[in-house]
Amino acid sequence: MLQTISSPTEIYQRLVALRQSGKKVGLIPTMGALHEGHLSLVRRAKQSCDVTVATIFVNPTQFGPQEDFSKYPRTLERDQELLQEAGCDLLFCPSADLIYPPGYSTAVDPPAVAIPLEGVRRPGHFRGVATIVLKLFQLLPSDQAFFGAKDFQQVLVIRRMVTDLNVPIEIVTCPIIREPDGLAMSSRNRYLSSEERSQALAISRGLHKAADLVAKGATDVALLQQAIREELDHAQIARIDYVAIAHPETLAEVSSLNDGAVALVAAFVGTTRLIDNRLLQPATK
Ligand code: AMP
Repeated sequence: MLQTISSPTEIYQRLVALRQSGKKVGLIPTMGALHEGHLSLVRRAKQSCDVTVATIFVNPTQFGPQEDFSKYPRTLERDQELLQEAGCDLLFCPSADLIYPPGYSTAVDPPAVAIPLEGVRRPGHFRGVATIVLKLFQLLPSDQAFFGAKDFQQVLVIRRMVTDLNVPIEIVTCPIIREPDGLAMSSRNRYLSSEERSQALAISRGLHKAADLVAKGATDVALLQQAIREELDHAQIARIDYVAIAHPETLAEVSSLNDGAVALVAAFVGTTRLIDNRLLQPATK
């Protein structure tokens, strides 16, 4: 039975006691409005942990002033049902004033991998992400934490933070879960009208096309970017934040695919900002 806890002290004491009794704890941080992508993290956690604990917290510090913090979907009851069905044991959903006490002014300075891509388009975003994730790691002492590759740069930021700050937790990256037609699942997909929903498909189609070209031997990075942009143009997705082919660990722009690469897209479909990515594996590797 899923148990929901909102007190930081209570969840801390629960997890400390569980770990003292020898249980392996798996942590799944989320912002709620759960879908199969989130639930896949719970299922993965259940494979390697004795106790799974999800968190739902719409973290204000990772949203920019013009972003969708106030309208971000909040669907707690449905989320609880879904977590219960997935076999999650504990849910931590604190109120913002306990996480950010009055007068707080400390934050995590995120690592260099936070600088490009999302870092350029969403200044302060990764500072907010790194800060909340570190707070959750402190409040919910766990053995493993599970993150989706959907937020590719986020995982790199968190991995680097954990290494740099000696946080004793193992980060597990889980694959992107897609709708049957290829659209990467996202809590923000519910903002899309049905017309925008079909437009949005161009993002995964473009990434798929690039991966296909690479699998068939293409090596020209500019050509791959062009192939993705053509799909977006064709669907009249005009507001593109980036179409990047980058090193899968540093996110530096690459000029060759020799070390492997990742293609990443961020674009607005209507007023909804979507991100997606795909690893590009050269034919010879
Ligand atoms: P969010 O609630 O958007 O902050 O996401 C919480 C966690 O779920 C993050 O680790 C995300 O990367 C992960 N996630 C979100 N969408 C997907 C997806 N389509 N496939 C896999 N993981 C996902």
